[in-house]
Amino acid sequence: MSYISKQERAVAINPTRSCAPIGAMLANYGIHGAITINHGSQGCATYPRHQMARHFREPVEVATTSLSEKTTVYGGKGNLLAALKNIVERFHPTLIMVCSTCLSETIGDDIPGVIDEFLDKHPEVTIPILSVKTPSYIGNHTTGFDNFLKEIANNLPERRKKKGETNGKINMIPGWVNPGDIRELKHILREMGLHGVWLTDYSETLDGGYYEPRPHVARGGTTIEELRSSSKSLATVALQRHVGGEAAHIYERRYNVPAHVLTMPIGLANTDALVDTLTEITDHPVPETLQVERARLLDALVDTHMFTTGLRVALYGDPDLLEGLVGLVAEMGMTPAYVLTAADNGPWGERMVELSEELGVESEIILKGDLHELHKRIKARPVDLLIGHSKGKFIADAERIPLLRVGFPVEDRFGYHRRAIVGYNGAIALVDEITNLIFERKASAVVSNTLLELGVEGPSNVPIAVCNGSAA
Ligand code: SF4
Repeated sequence: MSYISKQERAVAINPTRSCAPIGAMLANYGIHGAITINHGSQGCATYPRHQMARHFREPVEVATTSLSEKTTVYGGKGNLLAALKNIVERFHPTLIMVCSTCLSETIGDDIPGVIDEFLDKHPEVTIPILSVKTPSYIGNHTTGFDNFLKEIANNLPERRKKKGETNGKINMIPGWVNPGDIRELKHILREMGLHGVWLTDYSETLDGGYYEPRPHVARGGTTIEELRSSSKSLATVALQRHVGGEAAHIYERRYNVPAHVLTMPIGLANTDALVDTLTEITDHPVPETLQVERARLLDALVDTHMFTTGLRVALYGDPDLLEGLVGLVAEMGMTPAYVLTAADNGPWGERMVELSEELGVESEIILKGDLHELHKRIKARPVDLLIGHSKGKFIADAERIPLLRVGFPVEDRFGYHRRAIVGYNGAIALVDEITNLIFERKASAVVSNTLLELGVEGPSNVPIAVCNGSAA
C-alpha cells in the first residue's frame, strides 16, 4: 500500500528545488518582448540567470534593482523607480514583470505601490507592468511560475465586448516544461486543426536560432494582443495541476472560459486525456496522424515490457512532472518505489497515493524531501533506475544506477531542453531511453530479444528477460 512520509530535518542537503523568482522569470520569457526586473540583490538575479543559461543554453537577460546594505535598511523604492525608467527608455519592452525576492519581501517593499507611483509620474508609459510575489521561503521555483500565470490571468485579458464573442482558440497552459515539449504540444493542436493561445510560449525565445543582425528582442513568444484576447477563447486547458491549474480557474471565474485541468500528458493514458479533452471542447475528430503515433507508443510499450516489468524506480522533482511520469512508469510495468518532491504539498501527496492505488503500484511519497533523504532510502533498499534532473547524478554514480535525466535543471547533458517528453512522441522517446539505460546498467548483450547478464550485479535482482514471442 502506498503511503506519504515527510522529511522533518530542518536543513536540506542536496535540495531538489530552485528559488521562486526563476519560475516567474521563465514564464515571462514566453511573452514576446517582455522583460523582468528582479527586485533584490544582484545575486537574486544572477543565480536564476545562471541556472536558466546552463539548462537552456541561451543568454538570459534580466534586470535587477541591485539592492545594497543601504537600500536594505531604508527600502528599495528609489532603485525600483530608476530601474523602471531605465528599462522603458532603453529596451522599449512590451511588458515589464517585477518579481520580488526573499530580500525585498523581508524588508517589506510595496512593489505594486511603487509601480502605481511610477505610472502616475509617467502617463506616457502604457505597457502593462505586473508585480509578482516570489519570496523563496514560500514555495519554490514552481510557485513563482504559477504566481506569474495567476497575475496574467487576473490582469491582461480584456473583457468580451459581446456575450458569446470568441476568438475560436484554446488557452493552453503547458506549465513548467521544456521548449521541445511546447513544440510537441503545438504539433498535437496543429494535427487536430486547432489554434492555441499559449500561456506562455518560450519554445523559441529560449531555444532560438542564430540570426544576424541579432534581433533587439528574442523571436517568438506569445504577444500581448494574444493575451488580451485570451478571455474570448473557447476553453482553457492547463496541463499541470499545480503550475497553471489555478490560472485556468481564474479564466473560468472572471471571463466565463471553461477550465480543464489535466495531469501532465506523459505516457499513453495522460496523453489520451489531453486528446479527448480537445475533442470534447471542439468536436474535432482525432486525426489519423495522432492515431498512428498512439499505436506506435502502444507497440513500444509492448516491445519493451519484458525488459522493464518489475523494475523499481526512484523519481524526484516537481509535483506535476512526477504525477505525469508515474503514469508512464506504471504503463511500462515498473514500480515507482520512491516519489520525492521538495514541495510541502499535502494535497499532491494524497493525490499521488490515490493515483498509485488506481495504477496498482506501491510507492512511498516523500514530501519536503532532498536528495540526501532519497539516497538513504536507496542504500537501504535499492532501485534499478533513477528519474530526475542532473542533481541526482551523485546518487547514480555512487550506487551505479542509471539516471534518466528529465525536469529542471539538466546541466550536465546537451540539448535536453529541445527534447519532448509529452505527447505520444515524447513517451516513445522516454520508453526507448529507459529501456536502453536498463540495457547499459546490466552491462549486457541483447541477443535475439534476450537480455543476457554478463556478471555485473545491479542493485536489485532483475530476472533475465527472455522473449517468448508474445511481443513480436
Ligand atoms: S535570496 Fe531568495 S530570491 Fe534571492 S537567490 Fe536566494 S533564494 Fe533566491
